[in-house]
Formats: sequence, structure tokens, C-alpha cells
Amino acid sequence: MAPTAIVSDIHSNIHALNAVLEDARACSVQRVVCLGDVIGYGAHPIECIDAARTFDFCLRGNHEDGIAGKLDLFNEDARQAALWTRRLLKAGLLAPEEKKNRWQFVQERPRRREEEGAMFVHGSPRNPVWEYLFDFDCADLFGRASDKVMENLALVSEFCFVGHTHVPGVIDDGGRFIHLEALGDPFELETGAKAIVNVGSVGQPRDGDPRASYALFDGRKVTFRRVEYDVAAACQDIIAEPDLPDSAGQRLLQGF
Ligand code: ZN
Repeated sequence: MAPTAIVSDIHSNIHALNAVLEDARACSVQRVVCLGDVIGYGAHPIECIDAARTFDFCLRGNHEDGIAGKLDLFNEDARQAALWTRRLLKAGLLAPEEKKNRWQFVQERPRRREEEGAMFVHGSPRNPVWEYLFDFDCADLFGRASDKVMENLALVSEFCFVGHTHVPGVIDDGGRFIHLEALGDPFELETGAKAIVNVGSVGQPRDGDPRASYALFDGRKVTFRRVEYDVAAACQDIIAEPDLPDSAGQRLLQGF
């Protein structure tokens, strides 16, 4: 596979996305692919969608599903941000062509992608848009993983890339969650092994590290990248927009 940058959960944070794309270019990637949630929470949905339209592919996240109508599964912050984003993006019959194309792009995102032994989804192999695979669903000290994790692993042949929880790491074939600090860099699969790889979030990391998260993949090796960006500017832009919840900005400063 050509050197690929796998990004996810941009969440309308153009400051983080631009920094990640610059870092990816410096790493000589040949393609950028996205696992969904381009929008939601942040102040720059239009700029982020326009960037995503240039990617090699861009999947459907729950926030794309959300603004297309399914808001009942969202918490209050996510719902408020989705309503604002929808007001900004929704294109009626008389809207300019560019606005219509953007709205159509959001609505038409596919749920999964498979290529050369790698599966790509937003959430999980069996429920690609909405299901979360959290670290606490994974194997405990006694090696017992939840049925949810083991059923999802059974659907993976080699690599499956996910986002959605905003916590980067690897679920190995024993159902154990390996955090970044414990992973070899780059991470490589042994022959016959499989893994669910969470690339983390570009625009709203939740693992306590405010830097943008994404991964490089060449078909064998996964290299996790963390990229500094202007977090304060992203936070300020959210607070400056009265219809976005301030907490969506403040959490960026902590990375939670
Ligand atoms: Zn997300």
C-alpha cells in the first residue's frame, strides 16, 4: 500500500487538521484517508469538509449520520453542535452549487472500506458508524475481554482501522488494549496476527494529550503521530460562536 496517512475525528478543527496535513506531507505520504466525523464540536465545518473532499476516501462517522437526522443518540454538547453545523451546511433547492455539493458530500459518506487486507470503519467492524470499542471493553488483568470485542475481532482478517473513541492504541488478537506508551514504534503485526488499530482524533483528542493524533500506514507498519497545533486558537473560535457549547473548546486544552 502506498504510504498513507489515516486521520479520523477531525471535528471541524481546521487548526489541528492543517497541522496534521503538513506533518503528513513532511513524512512523504502519498494518500490521506479519513475514518469519519469530519464535523461536529468545532467552529470550521466548511473548511474541514472542503479538505476532506480532496482525500482518497472519507467514511461516514456518527456526526455525519447525526446532522443527516439521527440526533437522538447524541449527548447535549454534541446535539447542540450538530444543530449549529446543520444550520450552516444544509442546502435547499436554491442554494449555490458549491453549498449543495458540500451537503451532498456529508450525506453520501460510505460506512466502510476494505483494501489489501485492511478494513477501515469509524466505530467497529460489526457496527461501522456507531459502536465504540473502549479500552475498558478490552481484556482485564485475567485476560478476559468482553464478547463485544471478541465478536468484532472475529470479523477482522488482518488490520482494521477505527476512530470514534478519540483514544489511540491497538487491540491485539487476544482482545487486549495496548496504549501508545506500551507499543513498539512503529507497530508491526506478526505473521497470521490481527489487530484493531485506533488512530485517535485529529481535532478532539481524549487521551490526556492535547496534540492532534493520526497514523501512518504502509500496508505492514503503523506509525502513530502526535502533532502540536494552535489549541488556544481552536478553543477561542468555538467560544466566539455563541451557538457552540464552550465546553467543546475548553476540553481541547486538556485533551479530554
Ligand atoms: Zn468523534
